Amino acid sequence: MADKRDYYEVLGVEKTATADEIKKAYRKLAMKYHPDRNPGDKAAEEKFKQIGEAYEVLSNEDKRTRYDQFGFAGVDPNYGGQGGAGYGSGFGGFGGFGDFGDLGDIFGSFFGGGSRRSGQNAARRGEDLGVRLELTFEEAAFGCEKEVTVARVENCAACHGTGSADGVVEVCGQCKGSGQVRTVQNFMGMSMQSTTTCPSCGGRGKIVKTPCSTCKGKGKVRRNKKLKVNIRAGADNGTVFRMPGEGSVGANGGPNGDVLVEVSVKRHPIFQRDGMTVHCEVPISFTQAALGAQIQVPTLDGQTSYTIPEGTQTGTVFTIRGKGIPSLQDSRRRGDHKFTVVVETPTRLTREQKELLRKLDDDLDAKSSPRRKKFIDGLKDLFD
Ligand SMILES: [Zn+2]
Ligand SMILES: [Zn+2]
Repeated sequence: MADKRDYYEVLGVEKTATADEIKKAYRKLAMKYHPDRNPGDKAAEEKFKQIGEAYEVLSNEDKRTRYDQFGFAGVDPNYGGQGGAGYGSGFGGFGGFGDFGDLGDIFGSFFGGGSRRSGQNAARRGEDLGVRLELTFEEAAFGCEKEVTVARVENCAACHGTGSADGVVEVCGQCKGSGQVRTVQNFMGMSMQSTTTCPSCGGRGKIVKTPCSTCKGKGKVRRNKKLKVNIRAGADNGTVFRMPGEGSVGANGGPNGDVLVEVSVKRHPIFQRDGMTVHCEVPISFTQAALGAQIQVPTLDGQTSYTIPEGTQTGTVFTIRGKGIPSLQDSRRRGDHKFTVVVETPTRLTREQKELLRKLDDDLDAKSSPRRKKFIDGLKDLFD
């Protein structure tokens, strides 16, 4: 392996040879050194093998590019005993373009990060920007229009994104505008070519002699931008609204990023929310609970009358259909409003009121308090 000859040399062609020239050269040499024509000639057999190997690489566009860039290591993973693992053996291991990318990275790490990937002048999508938006309970439930401020990157207005104060932008002389330069370095005794970011233009491919003072030659500035965002009914904590293309401007013709508005909902003094259902508590008097009553229940739509039946126990949950939160998908659909009645025990009673209650209690029999009777009977069974 050590005294391997350059493939172009083997075929006797120039590095700039066309595919046709390579094919012709191969045919001529293959005929000359074919084993059938040179029976028993070991040197001819070796030559024939070398010609075949050289042709296999140089006749394939991908392999030829790899060879031009990385030498034998670019097409034969076993070469130099380096990097063979995982790539299979021989040429077969390098099937597709993807492997080339990996290889580029492997060599890139030797050359301080220079890889074949396109540099700063490649089209890139602008960054997405996230913003939090706090809404009241009602705003989230019924939807609203709000304003958010994002610090996004925009093309500099002063220089129209060119970065040049006088509008003069020259193509970089060193990289001819590609933003990348090829460097030749010695790697394990081989002459290796690698592609790195152009040092003259920093990969931009352009050179600005008089930089714009507003953007310091960058062509882009970050500025606060106010955006109107439409919040649909039914938004909840963590709901995200995406505003396509409102994020930072893309680079070199790449698309803009998006703005992502994440909703957080403020606590409400009396309502709680569980998905599309609204909960609240309604205190009632113990007389209302005993006799039944028409009570006022607060909902998102205002106060609603509701008749609770006589003998209502504390903690009973009642449901009013369709007075909850609208569905985020279809605002015509609404959840329910549920309320829990809490019987309030009277406090700070006058002597007269106490007397009345005592009379009432003496008058009540076991039928009026079935739950209490059952409990007391249960205790008797346990302890008597
Ligand atoms: Zn500018
Ligand atoms: Zn350059």
